[in-house]
Amino acid sequence: MTDCLFCKIASHDIPVKAVYEDDLCLVFPDIHPQAPTHLLVIPKQHFAKVTEATASLLGHVLKTAADVGSGELPGGFRIVVNTGADGGQTVDHLHLHLLGGRSMHWPPG
Ligand code: 5GP
Ligand code: ZN
Repeated sequence: MTDCLFCKIASHDIPVKAVYEDDLCLVFPDIHPQAPTHLLVIPKQHFAKVTEATASLLGHVLKTAADVGSGELPGGFRIVVNTGADGGQTVDHLHLHLLGGRSMHWPPG
């Protein structure tokens, strides 16, 4: 999508410091980190939200988040997918938050 921020990041029109990249997804730091490590995992294909993505793509981005998390955050981590207005989603391109480097609170706010 031409008007989508994360599509522009996925295509490298907007440069980011990639932590991991493959044919299907890109992992990069969140611009406003909520934890010592706060990465975003995005598919390169545009899906507005998790409810629109295919099962195989969801499997790939979740497995990528888990692999990056286990490599970078041996003490544990949290994977979050905010969805829709009530879910707190502000960027309408599917993304997984990978958070770690501190103790996470529960329940979330
Ligand atoms: P959401 O609120 O949709 O779950 O998460 C969107 C995330 O994207 C937020 O954590 C926000 O800080 C991050 N974000 C917004 N704009 C940019 C940007 O231009 N670059 C990066 N790296 N992250 C961004
Ligand atoms: Zn997009």
